[in-house]
Amino acid sequence: MVVEGRRIQVRGTVQGVGFRPWIYRIAREEGISGRVRNDARGVTIEAFGRPEALAAFLRRLGRDAPPAARLREVREEPIPPESVPGFAIVPSEGEGVRRVSIPPDLATCPECLREVSDAADRRHAYPFTNCTQCGPRYTIARDVPYDRPATTMAGFAMCADCRREYEDPADRRFHAQPIACPRCGPSVRLLGPSGEPACLGPDAIAGAALALREGRIVAVKGLGGYHLACNATSPAAVRRLRERKKRDEKPFAVMVLSLDDARALAVVDPAEERLLASVERPVVLVRRRAGSGLAPEVAPGNPLVGLLLAYTPLHLLLLEAAGRPLVMTSGNLSEEPMAARDGEALARLAGIADLFLAHDREIENRCDDSVARVIAGRPTVFRRSRGYVPRAVTLRRPVRRPVLACGAHLKNTFCLAAGDEAWLGPHVGDLDNLEATRAFEEQVERLQRFLGIRPEVIAHDLHPDYASTRYALARPEPVKVGVQHHHAHVASAIGEHGLEGPVLGLAWDGTGYGTDGTAWGGELLLVRGGSFERLSTLRPLRLAGSDQAIRQVWRIALAALDDAYGGAVPLDRLRLFQSVPARDLAVVRQMAARGLRSPLAHGAGRYFDALGALGLERPRATYEGQVALDWNLAADEAETGSYPFELAEEGGLVQADLRPLVRGAVEDLAAGIAPGRVSARFHEAMADVAAAMVRRAVSEHGRLPLVLTGGCFQNARLAEGVLRRLQGELDVRLHGEVPPGDGGIALGQALVAEAVAG
Ligand SMILES: [Zn+2]
Ligand SMILES: [Zn+2]
Ligand SMILES: [Zn+2]
Repeated sequence: MVVEGRRIQVRGTVQGVGFRPWIYRIAREEGISGRVRNDARGVTIEAFGRPEALAAFLRRLGRDAPPAARLREVREEPIPPESVPGFAIVPSEGEGVRRVSIPPDLATCPECLREVSDAADRRHAYPFTNCTQCGPRYTIARDVPYDRPATTMAGFAMCADCRREYEDPADRRFHAQPIACPRCGPSVRLLGPSGEPACLGPDAIAGAALALREGRIVAVKGLGGYHLACNATSPAAVRRLRERKKRDEKPFAVMVLSLDDARALAVVDPAEERLLASVERPVVLVRRRAGSGLAPEVAPGNPLVGLLLAYTPLHLLLLEAAGRPLVMTSGNLSEEPMAARDGEALARLAGIADLFLAHDREIENRCDDSVARVIAGRPTVFRRSRGYVPRAVTLRRPVRRPVLACGAHLKNTFCLAAGDEAWLGPHVGDLDNLEATRAFEEQVERLQRFLGIRPEVIAHDLHPDYASTRYALARPEPVKVGVQHHHAHVASAIGEHGLEGPVLGLAWDGTGYGTDGTAWGGELLLVRGGSFERLSTLRPLRLAGSDQAIRQVWRIALAALDDAYGGAVPLDRLRLFQSVPARDLAVVRQMAARGLRSPLAHGAGRYFDALGALGLERPRATYEGQVALDWNLAADEAETGSYPFELAEEGGLVQADLRPLVRGAVEDLAAGIAPGRVSARFHEAMADVAAAMVRRAVSEHGRLPLVLTGGCFQNARLAEGVLRRLQGELDVRLHGEVPPGDGGIALGQALVAEAVAG
């Protein structure tokens, strides 16, 4: 019998995801002997067997890996055959620099689900069932290496049955660190509004479900923090939650039990189904189905709804018992970080929640739900947190010195880079209050410790007033690199796609600090690593009252009109201004005319605000970007018209003059054309503007790859419009796992800092 040997090295996310026990199983099934071990960079397998058996083994290795595993590279080489009895999982070797020892949290796998619903199984209805392929990871990790004693499972001693599974290499719970069962693991309890116990065990879930069915609000302790839950089909319940939470008009996410339930509430295409059911289980924005029974208050006036599939057995059991979709929104007051500790939750959510569904497995690392949407057929992550963190982004080239990038001010995440990997931290949110700033600092310290990284280079935004900038400047490390906001956006897309050489980057967002003191955000940049050239921008608008204009969007509309019509616009003909006092109009016009507290703003988002205010007759937004988003969602899908604009060049900078566009839209509205059609034409026009900017750059600089980045490219209609116009001519890339908005900017900051100061 001919026996051959192979050494197979697998790189990627292969630790903590059940990879070795799976290798063990397929090796035995294929009659392969040898061994598998974790090493510093992944997993090494030494396999011996007949050539056909080895071929079958390798085929399965490449094809059927556990869902949470990400194979980046599989290298094989022949080695002399050895005669070893059977196949074994052996201890790690060498221990070089060990990083990435903590995987992201994984949604419950089908096998665990089956056990939970099997009345004969010892884990029947047990809310903390998990295995090597699913369950909590990052959120329970206290320290590295990721072993049970360094997690919040440390206090639970395994029973004999769990211990046997944990120690048996053939068992799918071999070395599953959070392994638990009803006899030895955590348990749920239902608490009253001031923390007094109401009931325990399975009754707790039944009690919570009953309360939910009756329209009450229950705080539910999940994986990465507390959610506030209520019946998503009851307008009264959702309204009550909205009132208590003071969550202006932001949409709530809705959790469902299955893909079938998701299809009942929304129109879901195959790419969206895959994203909904992925191990990361993000909230997926999908088109709501009319008459689905979902309370309109879930997402007022919004054609989309954020759905997510139950991702732990606890959620599954709760939804099953409640028998209807549930709102699951972050357990916090507006703008604060999500509550994760029990005491914190009881204190902060008192007055909002009627009951608390809690348990005794502590959440060590707060991690919000991630949010994603399918754009141009592929997932784009808007908020990258639970399920993705702390998975690394692989860099094209290693950084020379470890970098900490502190991110932006809104939707903050930070980034650590070392070797050829970069880790984006969890979503921290807006750094507007002490809670959030403290959470930011804590998370930075923690991820540094987990990864064993001591940064030598600190990157930050150029904006002097960002809390993240102040934090960066106060750090002891001497090397600080300020990175222009849109340069960072573009570098982040370059980093995600591993592009090389000069790249064109269309960075469109609301605002970012420019190098000339104005606010940028309609930029086309030519980026070469650590430097960039500003090729084109949008004609700026005067933001009278600066930040005030972000919510009082009528001010931006007024600026756009005065610019487009030279101050000769008949405001009394426009309904938008009827609710704005004449005195305010006069004051704002004077401020703009004198340039008093009226910075120039180039952001594409500001044009969405302006036209949205005019078209939807909405003078005010309750949160930043609300009117722009509603204007996007209002766009009529069938309408394909557009508006004119001009490109002009001055001092080497091309500027898109949108005054003809504004006039075109205003005239359409005055002629009674439906706002949805005007919005659609506006979107087409903006995509035309983008394409024209890019073509002008290509005529000078050649066919470089193009990335679309910045918060505006969360707008599917705009992103798909630009892509459609240019993809035949250029290599055009959208963001995928790294957010296009400010939540993805830290990766770009890190890469620019490396190029400048590494
Ligand atoms: Zn499982
Ligand atoms: Zn047990
Ligand atoms: Zn931005």
